[in-house]
Amino acid sequence: MSVKLTFYGAVREIGGGKTVLRYDGTTILMDFGMDFLAGSDHFNERLKPAPYLEVRDYLHLGTLPPLAGLYPVAQRRFLEQEFDTALEPADVSGILLSHGHIDHVGFLPLVDISVPLYCSAQTLEVLRYFDEIGQFDLRMDQRPVTVLEPGRSVQIGKCEVVPVLTDHDVLGAMGFIVRCGDRSVVYTGDYRLHGRHSERVCAFFDLVRQEKQHATTILLTEGTRLGSGTLDQLSESQVQDGVMRAVAAAPGLVLTDYYVLDTERLKVLLRVAEKTGRTMVLQPQHMLIARRFARFDAELERLLSNVQVYLARRGSGRYLAPDYRLFEQEYLVTALRAADIAEDPARYMLQLDFVDLSELIEINAAPHTAFIHSGGEPRGPNDPNYVVLMRWVRDFGMDFYHIATPGHANELDIREMIQRADPDVLVPMHTRAPEALDGFVPNTVSLRKGVTYEL
Ligand SMILES: [Zn+2]
Ligand SMILES: [Zn+2]
Repeated sequence: MSVKLTFYGAVREIGGGKTVLRYDGTTILMDFGMDFLAGSDHFNERLKPAPYLEVRDYLHLGTLPPLAGLYPVAQRRFLEQEFDTALEPADVSGILLSHGHIDHVGFLPLVDISVPLYCSAQTLEVLRYFDEIGQFDLRMDQRPVTVLEPGRSVQIGKCEVVPVLTDHDVLGAMGFIVRCGDRSVVYTGDYRLHGRHSERVCAFFDLVRQEKQHATTILLTEGTRLGSGTLDQLSESQVQDGVMRAVAAAPGLVLTDYYVLDTERLKVLLRVAEKTGRTMVLQPQHMLIARRFARFDAELERLLSNVQVYLARRGSGRYLAPDYRLFEQEYLVTALRAADIAEDPARYMLQLDFVDLSELIEINAAPHTAFIHSGGEPRGPNDPNYVVLMRWVRDFGMDFYHIATPGHANELDIREMIQRADPDVLVPMHTRAPEALDGFVPNTVSLRKGVTYEL
């Protein structure tokens, strides 16, 4: 029996994947992501859908799947009565989540809380974290979640799902082999070969090859870096060498900017802090997820003992409890403040988020303060906030270093992995340049959004 796949996102774009798999009466979704820049091509920071029209608008634009079982009953009724919107009556047996990045989970708040979720223990921590810092209203305490153990398969309706650990710039990233009778649909999620665990990725693609012994294999691979023409990338230890040199050369304060979920990068910064005798200072939300992830990572646990927390001024500007969220309030007494950093800047490496750059005024950052941009926001020169960051760098006379490495495999690594798996059908997704793999295996699908492929 064939399997049907429909893609609502990650088609000629990076992220935003929401892939519907239908087999023998079972409907499974793979990821439920939001496009990186607030919503999708159609919305941004300024132009947002009204909350009560969000599902309607995204359905209309073809960004959300028209499956009744996904959305809360009240929302369904509203759509039917007000807009005559016909939704397919299908129940959804579950949503598989490959990892906790927003472009893979960011639309989950729109999903009815009764829909079962499947993810790694680390991804579950990320989802809870989003709730706690108020980034999303996921209500994770009310949702049914099955925590997936790597290699241990689970039955979802008529499908058997094998979760496999991969390597990406967040802990707990997984790919999935979804066995549907004599078809095996393989979804890689995001992966890279230059991280600390390339062996996991190789083992995953070897597994896919073995799958061919009993099934037709359909490989859905990410291709973020396809067509970019660059192989530029550092290993995490080369990143560490670079950070080490930058910190050793810094006469005063060192500022860092890494992405809050990338605890592998945090470990790099913490190792450098340890070696150079500095104290790493994190903002409360960084500390929150680091402490959660520390239970999966003994080295992180140890390194966190050399960390202090920083509180930026908010609200009243007087460090009062109501100015802060609950998870921040526990640091009201113990946290370092701008004045503490200003007193002895050369003692610290301080993580400073983009939104808190104005703290530099109070810290009285001296010329040649080092700013190590290492994967945090703004994410690159294409982000409008990058110009703003550069203005602060210039006006404070800071020494700016970009020392980072991509979370995604380069084109040659992707090709090598595809050859390793030798799939019967190849589906490049999560890329702006899928044509880079046109005809790479005889049966390569060129995706279109919202079209159902029967394979
Ligand atoms: Zn992604
Ligand atoms: Zn990702």
